[in-house]
Amino acid sequence: MTHMESFRDPATARRLIDAILRQVTGSLRVIEFCGGHTHAIMRYGLRDALAPQVTLLSGPGCPVCVTASADIDQAIALSQRPEITLATFGDMIRVPGTKTSLQGARAEGSDIRVVYSALDALQLARELPAREIVMLGIGFETTAPTIAAAIAQARAESLKNWSVYSMHKLTTPAMRAILDAGEVAVDAVLGPGHVAAITGWEAWSFLATEYGVSCAVAGFEPTDILQALLACAQDKAAGQPRVTNSYGRGVSAEGNLVAQGLMAQVFTTADAAWRGLGIIPDSGLAIAPEYAAFDARARYALPGLAEGPLDAEAALGCRCGEVLRGVVEPAGCPLFGTACTPAHPVGPCMVSAEGSCAAHYRYQGVVA
Ligand code: SF4
Repeated sequence: MTHMESFRDPATARRLIDAILRQVTGSLRVIEFCGGHTHAIMRYGLRDALAPQVTLLSGPGCPVCVTASADIDQAIALSQRPEITLATFGDMIRVPGTKTSLQGARAEGSDIRVVYSALDALQLARELPAREIVMLGIGFETTAPTIAAAIAQARAESLKNWSVYSMHKLTTPAMRAILDAGEVAVDAVLGPGHVAAITGWEAWSFLATEYGVSCAVAGFEPTDILQALLACAQDKAAGQPRVTNSYGRGVSAEGNLVAQGLMAQVFTTADAAWRGLGIIPDSGLAIAPEYAAFDARARYALPGLAEGPLDAEAALGCRCGEVLRGVVEPAGCPLFGTACTPAHPVGPCMVSAEGSCAAHYRYQGVVA
């Protein structure tokens, strides 16, 4: 058995499932922040294997899904300027704005290129000096350092035709907003492993100290997730909420200090508009004044917060906003699997590879 296979070992997974179920005498409700966890939980049938004692709720951890319709509209408006080539990660292309998507804008003549990294977008700027390249900056603390590094690189090269429309968001303010709203009762949070690799697991300790909610930071293999859920179950049985790091091979207490330093150098915190969660104070990353030359909002005189609806697809009956808050299961949406499928998505939760609706649709019926 290889090192990675050991994290998928069915016998180990079965032992962990049994241990969790032995600990849970009543019920255990856990919200996973990260869309990657939602997909792994569905893919490996963990949800069904632990039901009904353990309820696993999906959270807001899909960067594409939480991008507000107004921001998509603003990105489309940018792409319609004749001098601009818009560079974006592929997931964003089909996400609906108020009237259309980036894919729709491209069909109508906008120059929109899919890139795999911010460095690809920088290369576009070098290769197309007569074009203005605008990169859509999207993602949580996991992605933001790579965009920050690209902005620093653009300044080092004195690139004049490259800027970023930053829609980056921070995870802990969103988790606070969900708990503060009181719509969903949880015993524990499955902490996002990739985010915590940057922030450090200590950044999530507020959950135990301020909210009395356990948090177990988890990796993305089935036994990683089960190990973390076992910690959550043990905390509840002991009546002692804690923050546990169940992803020791990827996460430290203090996180990646180099990445944190890059983010602090290039970005500043700002209010951000979240689909489903509204405007959350200090939950976004705006480009710092020292790097204003690479800030598309400053360069094109755009408002700090895009104006318009945050979740336009709600008018079509889409319940993505509630799915992102853990209030509604994807199957609780009347459009799930009927009017809304991955081939014909209505909302972003069915579009994105990290979306909860896409995960539930793809893996429904899978049992460990
Ligand atoms: Fe929106 Fe489709 Fe999910 Fe319903 S199933 S919440 S319409 S994305």
